[in-house]
Amino acid sequence: MKCDSCSARIELTFMNKIVGTYYRKGKKKKVVCPQCQKQYSDAELRQKLNL
Ligand SMILES: [Zn+2]
Repeated sequence: MKCDSCSARIELTFMNKIVGTYYRKGKKKKVVCPQCQKQYSDAELRQKLNL
């Protein structure tokens, strides 16, 4: 799985959860890595992801 903002690889934890965050809008689901979360605000990320 890759970050939809910067294309960095997103790891899974041993519980099979992603190291990152999902952004959802309707049926669209995007995933964002922790670095992008630190770098951008929620609003900026949603804009980048077209959400
Ligand atoms: Zn990223």
